[in-house]
Amino acid sequence: MTDEKPKKKKRLMNKSKVKTPMREQTPEARIYNYEEVPLGYSVEEAVSEAQRCIQCKDKPCQHGCPVGIDIPAFMLKLGAGDIEGAYRKIKEKNFLPSICGRVCPQEDQCELVCTLNKPDKGRESSAIGRVERFIGDYAMNNDIRIVPDIAPATGKKVAVIGSGPAGLTAASDLIQLGHDVTVFEALHKPGGVLFYGIPEFRLPKATLMEEIEGLKDMGVKFVMNYPVGKAESLDSIRDRFDATFVGTGAGLPWFLNIPGENLNGVYSANEFLTRVNLMGGYKFPHKADTPVKKIKSIAVIGAGNTAMDSSRTAKRMGIETVNLVYRRSRLEMPARQEEIHHADQEGVNFYTLHSPLEFIGDGKGNLCAMKVQEMELGEPDDSGRRRPVPIEGAVKTLDVDTAVISIGQGPNPLLINDCPDLKLNDRKGTIEADEVTFQTSYPDVFAGGDIVTGGATVILAMGAGRQAAEAMHRFLMTGDAKPKLEVAEV
Ligand code: FAD
Ligand code: SF4
Repeated sequence: MTDEKPKKKKRLMNKSKVKTPMREQTPEARIYNYEEVPLGYSVEEAVSEAQRCIQCKDKPCQHGCPVGIDIPAFMLKLGAGDIEGAYRKIKEKNFLPSICGRVCPQEDQCELVCTLNKPDKGRESSAIGRVERFIGDYAMNNDIRIVPDIAPATGKKVAVIGSGPAGLTAASDLIQLGHDVTVFEALHKPGGVLFYGIPEFRLPKATLMEEIEGLKDMGVKFVMNYPVGKAESLDSIRDRFDATFVGTGAGLPWFLNIPGENLNGVYSANEFLTRVNLMGGYKFPHKADTPVKKIKSIAVIGAGNTAMDSSRTAKRMGIETVNLVYRRSRLEMPARQEEIHHADQEGVNFYTLHSPLEFIGDGKGNLCAMKVQEMELGEPDDSGRRRPVPIEGAVKTLDVDTAVISIGQGPNPLLINDCPDLKLNDRKGTIEADEVTFQTSYPDVFAGGDIVTGGATVILAMGAGRQAAEAMHRFLMTGDAKPKLEVAEV
């Protein structure tokens, strides 16, 4: 026997100032396929990137994550080569790591506040998103499944309306709490925008389907092709279930309200992406029935993620000229920097500081051109961005046979229109819900995600689904959705 303490194993550190790069398809190759652009990390690359994390005690990255993932803990495990342990850590808070690693705006959340992120010192943040994606994919490819513990059955029945990230998260948490959960979805595939909006080259559908299979394994029931408000009223659902979560999203496109908007060839981004992504329009006529008409020159109007997805999809359809028409400059574009960069690399023509005035027809009801007004930037407006101001007399005509309008979306109206007593936000028309409990004006109905906030992000929708599930559980078990206030003993 010896008194010597066992030596603590030294943590390996990677002092690189820059993120471990991720390989990706070249722009020349990828515009001819729908496969994913970034190729993901190898085991060595992921472990090495995790070793860049300096394990800050105050964990700013975790506070910057809307669902509070313990980022340093999974970095530590991965840095030590324990991939399964890292996966378990993430799954405590996030059941869609492969998806969030791909589409979350990490640059505005965890990576923005990462201690390493000191541009003045030439250091880049930890590549948290890339590492999260690696861990999720590794688990999937190596059949590592964590089937969470399911609490004993409560005998309570819960309906979840809408199968986007808000609804899926609520369903996952509610089933684990012992409730009997049924998801009702209007479309024939679950996933919401993750399925019908975000294209295959950014989020492979197999990844999403694998995560949804996990929910089915836990016992969540899915009823597809079931638009609540049409197939069955919300009131009737409320009669059949003890509580309901509404996560019907913001899928109603906004239009420009300019002349010619009803010409053939003018699409909303939603319709365009749904035809291509959900209905496989890009495989027409060989493998899919839904055609996207033959296009020579297209204008995508807007500069958010949806506009980037539409223009990059257009590139992959072999369209010669893809113009992205935006009324402000590149600096003000709301899309993720990575998406703007990829669109630029792929040859999308940025037609900035131009605003559509009119769609022009060919006399047979088809779009053939678009009149645009040239703009310049003036003083900042309420959003803090410089206001676009028309330059007098500077009007041009673009030859385009297709236009895709991508300037934002409002709440899906079907369910809302069916229940006029449900309280709505006066200005946005979204469902009004308590900020903490997500309870609506119907005490047994809770709502979260884009249907409450308007168009936002995947992770915020997931956070809302989680918080609402907690409150629904309290409501089902005690009759009160509000958290109990802790009273300190004196
Ligand atoms: P949704 O995802 O919209 O899901 C709502 C679901 O409810 C849909 O499946 C719908 O069919 C269903 N539904 C609607 N009405 C009914 C009814 N009456 N009955 C039954 N079902 C109904 N966010 C990011 O974080 N990163 C990105 O890169 C990103 N890219 C995007 C790209 C595009 C093209 C779009 C459109 C959005 C993007 N977003 C992105 C935003 C993000 O996808 C949304 O904020 C998120 O999906 C909202 O989730 P949700 O669950 O609230 O709603
Ligand atoms: Fe690691 Fe950055 Fe989080 Fe610090 S802030 S623990 S360096 S990921």
